Amino acid sequence: MPPKREVTVEGEPRMSYVHELIELAKRHNPGEPEFHQAVDEVLTSLEPALARHPEYQENRILERLIEPERVILFRVPWMDDQGRIQINRGYRIEFNSAIGPYKGGLRFHPTVNLGILKFLAFEQTFKNALTTLPMGGGKGGSDFDPKGKSDNEVMRFCQSLMTELARHIGPDTDVPAGDIGVGGREIGYLFGQYKRLRNEFTGVLTGKGLNWGGSLIRPEATGYGAVYFAQNMLATRNETLEDKICTVSGSGNVAQYTVEKVNQLGGKCVTLSDSSGFIHDPDGIDAQKLAYVMKLKNVKRGRIKEYVDQYPRATFHEGARPWGVPCNCAFPSATQNEVELRDAEALVKNGCTLVSEGANMPTAPDAVDVFIANKILYGPGKAANAGGVAVSGLEMAQNSQHVTWLRDEVDKRLNDIMRTIHDTAFAIAKEYGHAGNYVVGANIAGFLKVADAMLDQGLV
Ligand code: NDP
Repeated sequence: MPPKREVTVEGEPRMSYVHELIELAKRHNPGEPEFHQAVDEVLTSLEPALARHPEYQENRILERLIEPERVILFRVPWMDDQGRIQINRGYRIEFNSAIGPYKGGLRFHPTVNLGILKFLAFEQTFKNALTTLPMGGGKGGSDFDPKGKSDNEVMRFCQSLMTELARHIGPDTDVPAGDIGVGGREIGYLFGQYKRLRNEFTGVLTGKGLNWGGSLIRPEATGYGAVYFAQNMLATRNETLEDKICTVSGSGNVAQYTVEKVNQLGGKCVTLSDSSGFIHDPDGIDAQKLAYVMKLKNVKRGRIKEYVDQYPRATFHEGARPWGVPCNCAFPSATQNEVELRDAEALVKNGCTLVSEGANMPTAPDAVDVFIANKILYGPGKAANAGGVAVSGLEMAQNSQHVTWLRDEVDKRLNDIMRTIHDTAFAIAKEYGHAGNYVVGANIAGFLKVADAMLDQGLV
């Protein structure tokens, strides 16, 4: 990474342009550490592009890029099964629409706040640009916790949230999808309420059910995509996933389909986790065990520690993360900042050579530095997990043409998109003097597309 400070002719240290902007972002957005972290990571890595293209600074593109176009914050009142009134907070961040309608998931989790959603929407802007599809950046959600709620409570909450959200979204304006805590069940309730309010059957949400406008491969897309990205990174060293030991965190949508694809490609996944701890199964989580996990998490809505009751050769490690387990490849697939400095050091020490991020910003900045310094094949989330939003984009395309593509066709398109993202990030990193650094490559590639569109569209 370029140094944080440059030296003036007088010899006095002075902040560089991007670091002045990073400081400005911190002052303007107090109490939002995840947003500061994302802005710092992206802007720092753009320095080589800014040096080559003074027009971006002249037109204050970065100043505009770090300011969301619109932030919507609203009350979500609903009634629980005991007849008590509950109040949550709903959000939609419409961050950047330079290259298409706002697009990005809804997250329901008690940790959700404005700063976390702004970091996610900011990152989404660059990720969506990388997919090659016309989608702007957005994100939203609520501090509502679906865990422990009945289906009826989840439905009443979703209906209340959509009653406000509906006035801000639309198939050509803003198209939300799922994220943590928002899966097929929640998308169904949200879509039903939108349809009732608007009297329109449109592709206003993605991740829909297969028989009401959803796309084949959308549930699989993020996990499969992270594994395809890993395959592409390994190919640069003439390696494959065959016989590789893989650690995976999380046990939700992304983690489940990561395990499925690794298995199909001959690798062996040995861990899964949730916010209570991780399970380690040295024999590998094969297709049959994965089917059990899917039922446990998606239908029974249980905890991952129950895995060891079913498979006693596995062990449960309460309150811990799986990064101390020796592996060749790691797939962080739970949440932000789940790989800290000591985790990165343990991974490197134990022989891990590849990290492909299914989650968004799962690796803390000093841990990223460890991966880069040790020449780990490190695929940052905005490149490696872009398969999810890419297939959401394909769902939008199918909806607007009123067609349904076959499973193999969508999977092939996903595979092609992940290869294109990989090759673009790889080529741009090299072009800008950071060969092998996918962080620099992905950030600059995404930025150039959005920045050029903003220049074309004038001061809006
Ligand atoms: P799910 O809700 O299906 O699963 C989330 C998993 O992560 C659960 O196992 C959950 O455990 C765990 N988790 C959530 N929050 C925390 C936390 N604070 N600490 C520890 N574990 C936690 O979500 P997804 O699989 O969809 O999302 C996982 C990650 O992938 C997120 O970072 C998301 O932004 C990212 N992503 C998802 C996409 C998608 O298409 N779904 C697309 C691109 C990125 P518990 O049940 O205990 O909370």
